[in-house]
Amino acid sequence: MTCYIAVDVGGTQIRAACYPDDSSTPAVVERIPTRIAGEDALERIISLIRYVWPENGEVQGVGVAAPGPLDPYQGIIFNAPNIEGWIDFPLQARLEEALGARVAIGNDANLAALGESSYGAGQGHSHLIYITVSTGVGGGIIVGDQLLLGHQGLAAEIGHVTVMPDGPMCGCGHRGHLEALASGPSIARWFEEQLERGAQSSLSIQPRPITAKMIGQAAKKGDPLSIEAITRAGEYLGLALTGLAHIFNPTVIIIGGGVSRTGSLLLEPLRKTMEREILSPQYMQVLTITTAALGDDAGLAGALALAHTLNR
Ligand SMILES: [Zn+2]
Repeated sequence: MTCYIAVDVGGTQIRAACYPDDSSTPAVVERIPTRIAGEDALERIISLIRYVWPENGEVQGVGVAAPGPLDPYQGIIFNAPNIEGWIDFPLQARLEEALGARVAIGNDANLAALGESSYGAGQGHSHLIYITVSTGVGGGIIVGDQLLLGHQGLAAEIGHVTVMPDGPMCGCGHRGHLEALASGPSIARWFEEQLERGAQSSLSIQPRPITAKMIGQAAKKGDPLSIEAITRAGEYLGLALTGLAHIFNPTVIIIGGGVSRTGSLLLEPLRKTMEREILSPQYMQVLTITTAALGDDAGLAGALALAHTLNR
């Protein structure tokens, strides 16, 4: 039996799964916490992969989704903020040495796009934009069935597109980026600012901090300030995606991440903004805007799709 192994190195947990042949249903999945004090992350990842390794099978490739920024061509992690010592870290070479198998690595948001494209909401689409709206805002772009990587593998940093010159500070140290206006923490920050200015909400009596998850739930129950907060995030996403649609002319835009669980509360203002700002209606006539289908499994699915490319 030939198999593929997919690994998703997340901020809180690392998952590994073994898939037989062409299946996207894992034969075995295992997870461990990303950080355990005093233990080496690489050694733990190798042990996890060996745990899911098939006893009587041949592994054709190992795909790894890792937090960026990284170089997918050389297999080097430039900087993983959640993992101590992973600076210019040659993850691909170290894993290949230890496992004796071919390994490829990719940025987790890019691979989530590949996962949705191969196994999720983007199936059948050759031109796709995926955006994850969570603690941060990341994304991936597929053009003509190819994942867009750029010269160094640093392409598709959708969260750091400027949508408000001189706007709020982004986590990257620059102002007015999409992530500073539409990420979960940015939604919560704007919301708390409105409360401080005297705005009323069903969440006014809640102890601080107020989270984007609480705002999303209150919005679904009809709280006007919460609806405004989600609408505002949707409008900034729509602005950034209008620019991207002009460049890439996609047939599907997929929104993932925790904030996407607000569904139409986020997607409708996003769509309306695009309809208003787009160069011509032709772009929208072919375009589906939808939420992600794979949820937290998108990165793992993308790592599987990446592993398959090693066998071509
Ligand atoms: Zn930024």
